[in-house]
Amino acid sequence: MHAAIRDEVLEAMCRVYDSQWYILGPEVVHFEQAYSDFNQVKHTVGVGNGLEALALALRALSIGPGDEVLVPSNTYIATWLAVSQVGATPVPVEPDPATSNLDPTRIKAALTPRTRAIMPVHLYGQPCRMPEIMVLARQHGLLVVEDNAQAQGASFNGQPTGGFGDASGTSFYPTKNLGSLGDAGAITTNNADLAEYIKLLRNYGSGQKNHHTLLGYNSRLDELQAAVLQVKLRHLAAWTSQRRQLAAWYTEQLTGLSGLQLPALAAGAESAWHLYVVHTARRDALQQQLAAQGIGTLVHYPVPPHRQPAYAHLGLPAGALPIAEELAATSLSLPLWPGMTEATVVTVAQAIRRFYER
Ligand SMILES: *Cc1c(COP(=O)(O)O)cnc(C)c1O
Repeated sequence: MHAAIRDEVLEAMCRVYDSQWYILGPEVVHFEQAYSDFNQVKHTVGVGNGLEALALALRALSIGPGDEVLVPSNTYIATWLAVSQVGATPVPVEPDPATSNLDPTRIKAALTPRTRAIMPVHLYGQPCRMPEIMVLARQHGLLVVEDNAQAQGASFNGQPTGGFGDASGTSFYPTKNLGSLGDAGAITTNNADLAEYIKLLRNYGSGQKNHHTLLGYNSRLDELQAAVLQVKLRHLAAWTSQRRQLAAWYTEQLTGLSGLQLPALAAGAESAWHLYVVHTARRDALQQQLAAQGIGTLVHYPVPPHRQPAYAHLGLPAGALPIAEELAATSLSLPLWPGMTEATVVTVAQAIRRFYER
């Protein structure tokens, strides 16, 4: 990916170097506008990283101590940490085991008088069933903050993720579908007041030099990353279609192996294929056999948040969230990147077939 755009990216980096304007300048303004257009939302606010994007969105929506926020039981821990950071309590909801995404039919049972918000995570690039989630949220007076860190380029019924909820946080960590060359993140929203408030929060609570209206933070997208992200955003649609093609090839090559569950999409969901995740009871053996043939795979994620020492205080023992635990024990992410060839997909798929057919 990076070799193909080296000249374009270096030119953008030189432009920032020479401008001598490194924080909150024209590059951030241009990127925020371009990212809003891409997501079909009214506002983007660039911040320091994905975790802070989620936490600032929650804080700007006045979620804090005493509040409960529904989160998926099988997400990356950052979703939960954002809730904890504002002093609220993450309340896990089990996913649909077929899609690994938040199951809207399980939301009602998790509600208490303290529930304030839902955080759907578009895991592995697949959008959650947002129309149903939004209807439920509105029925129960709940706010919705999407975690769009893995799904830049995804859509549900044609609408891009990141624009369904009251706000959405995303990450431009280097390995995300839209990755910077360091840490970066953003909030998207259609609410102008919220966007303005987050712009104050990210910059010491200040909209005007030496005038501080809020107890703010320092969490800013920097000019260099914004310039790089502008270049990469221009390629994102093409990269996303390559990811879709690679996923289709995997599915074609791997269909019909008993004991191997392929990714399933909800009707209306168009995935950005951040990851192609299969499930198998023999995950560790398969991973080892692939590694022996020089095929690298990863597990997203081997330990669910409730089983991390950091969340021991919630008192959720092994077995408390069986779907999340089962997914953690069986999931395997196959190699997938824009620029990967069909021949490489076939090589990986053949190695997997040999494992099952032996
Ligand atoms: C990467 C990621 C984050 C956090 O983003 P950072 O920029 O690394 O802080 C949050 N949620 C999910 C689902 C992620 O994949």
